Amino acid sequence: MAHGFASKCLRAGYSPKNGEAATLPIYQSTTFVYDKTKDVASLFDLKSEGFFYSRLSNPTVDCVEKKIAALEGGVGAMLTSSGQAATFATIMTLCKANSHVLSLSTVYGGTYNLFAVTLKRFGIEVEFIKEDETDSMIQAKIRDNTCAIFAETIANPAMNVLDIERFARIAHFNNIPLIVDNTFATPYLCTPFAFGADIVIHSTTKYLDGHATVVGGCVVDSGKFNFKDNERFSDFNEKDLSYHGIIYTEDFKDCPFIVKAKVQIMRDIGLCMSAQDAFLLDKGIETLPLRVQKHCDNARTVALYLKTKSKYIKEIYSPYLENTKAHELSLKYLKGEGSGVISFVLKGGLDAGIKFIDALSFINLEVHVADIRTCILHPASSTHRQLTSEQLKDCGIDEGLLRLSLGLDDVDDVINDLEQAFSALDK
Ligand SMILES: *Cc1c(COP(=O)(O)O)cnc(C)c1O
Repeated sequence: MAHGFASKCLRAGYSPKNGEAATLPIYQSTTFVYDKTKDVASLFDLKSEGFFYSRLSNPTVDCVEKKIAALEGGVGAMLTSSGQAATFATIMTLCKANSHVLSLSTVYGGTYNLFAVTLKRFGIEVEFIKEDETDSMIQAKIRDNTCAIFAETIANPAMNVLDIERFARIAHFNNIPLIVDNTFATPYLCTPFAFGADIVIHSTTKYLDGHATVVGGCVVDSGKFNFKDNERFSDFNEKDLSYHGIIYTEDFKDCPFIVKAKVQIMRDIGLCMSAQDAFLLDKGIETLPLRVQKHCDNARTVALYLKTKSKYIKEIYSPYLENTKAHELSLKYLKGEGSGVISFVLKGGLDAGIKFIDALSFINLEVHVADIRTCILHPASSTHRQLTSEQLKDCGIDEGLLRLSLGLDDVDDVINDLEQAFSALDK
């Protein structure tokens, strides 16, 4: 019988046998010992499963990969050293020089820079699209060399909610995969594969770890996308000469994408997660449903509180606020929730942002989100401080924008702190 989500968070990926450790052991070893050359040979030929070097796979890492794959409803997963590494590995598995990718422009700043600047140096062109473009406007941008559409379930920090089915339909009409960054939603609120996404990525640094202890990422394969004989993906259908001539769509019919990601990109680039970090990540995932629900409950309360502060606030971005597109989509895709993050814009711009943050005494000022402790960030005075007012406008960051991430604190403590910071704006 299939287990429920909370049980999977505790048990998927690791099933101790009689007398074995109840909690996932840390295999703090770079390498593994074998009796005969033929044992190692069959591992290298991918004919038997096992471990030989922890850059490629490690038993602790493997268990956590299986857990996340189970939570997302995928056929396989690959943990990476960061969320950025997960995005990079995904693109490098699908694309080569001269490939083209469409991405929503509202993606996380780090992803935006990877796409706009760094991938360009590899000859991969990422073209940014906007959510409010019509299907035919987006369709017109798809080329023969387009290899993927990329978007976030909940955009960081704009808090738009993705109409996953719509983007999956456009992607599949063109035989290309939809990649969804599910970091903010987590599989507790949304499993994008259920709505047609083909590949999911995570910055596990955020809610999956949840305790602000480990930087990490994950790539998950739905196993549903048809790479077979797909002209856009010739190297999934041709012999990989760097791997004894295996053909991913023939030798690994059920999961060619994740196998290629592991044996080619992980082998060559080495963006692996350590066993110790995988163990800590697993500790976070064990309590994911409890934590995310509390983050959400707190965010809903604070979003409604912020609505009463229209004297100071120009705009609030949160799926919890009714009569918004994000709210409508959250009912379909996010069980009516919207994660623990709320973005809002102070009327007083840059000065008000600085004054507000400096007046806080309880909420942490952090370059982070999805922390167990409530934290806040003012992009214009921190992550985006090198940009001019003009450039800030171009990336859609208002000088008065604040990104508040509700932790597991007592919500009254958070509201009291916000209340006195709003009062400080009057002084
Ligand atoms: C933080 C973040 C990333 C990047 O992840 P790192 O673990 O910091 O490398 C990617 N996508 C989203 C939505 C994020 O919030």
